Amino acid sequence: MDTATTASAAPDSRTDAHRLADEGARFVAVADSGALGKLDVSRAVLGWAREALGPELVALSSMADEAMVHLAGQVIPGIDVAFLDTGRHFAETLQIRDTMAARLEINLINVEPIVSVAEQDARFGPELHLTNPDQCCKLRKLEPLNRILGRYRGWVTGVRRVDAPTRAGTELVEYDARRDMLKINPLVFWDDDDLANYVEEFSVPQHPLRALGYPSIGCEPCTRAPAPGEDPRSGRWAGTGKTECGLHI
Ligand code: SF4
Repeated sequence: MDTATTASAAPDSRTDAHRLADEGARFVAVADSGALGKLDVSRAVLGWAREALGPELVALSSMADEAMVHLAGQVIPGIDVAFLDTGRHFAETLQIRDTMAARLEINLINVEPIVSVAEQDARFGPELHLTNPDQCCKLRKLEPLNRILGRYRGWVTGVRRVDAPTRAGTELVEYDARRDMLKINPLVFWDDDDLANYVEEFSVPQHPLRALGYPSIGCEPCTRAPAPGEDPRSGRWAGTGKTECGLHI
């Protein structure tokens, strides 16, 4: 018997989302082979995601990733952009949210946690962000994130490798195994100069706290401006040892 002709291939155990992510990785290998500049690669990847997923694609924004929101709106006009309204944001974050919703070609979706701030304070005390920040992020960020992502097949983020050592291995297109979804990180290889150049060239609206020395902005009780020379993300959950809210890691 000719075993070469009778042997069957191993069954493909990947999900549809996993297969699509692998297809996206092959697209990236071609798009990012050196012929295109960073911005064109970012645009190409978003264009690929638009064709692959259509309206089943959402961008998640903290409103401190203004360039990503602008670029997503340019490549995918009318794209859904979800903002996790934790109830603990700076007034300036809500201000830039409203500015971006009015000025960019996006469909802003404001997502609030099931548990209100008052209910959380009554149950856990008013300083859960200090006593158990992981639990606080779970209630105010992860629960609404997973709820909104459940409506889509892929999500776009503003994650960049230079943001933190925990993000150094992020790829342009990934399979989000936790949620069985595609994850698109179009700015993943941008450095600070790339970001500044894009913001200037396209007059992207900026979070008002940037001018006051806040490079990384989350909820107000957990964000401070780092001192000159400090790690830009050191102002997040300062003094707690926590470095990520759990949305991406
Ligand atoms: S960043 Fe702070 S206030 Fe916001 S959800 Fe996390 S722990 Fe709570």
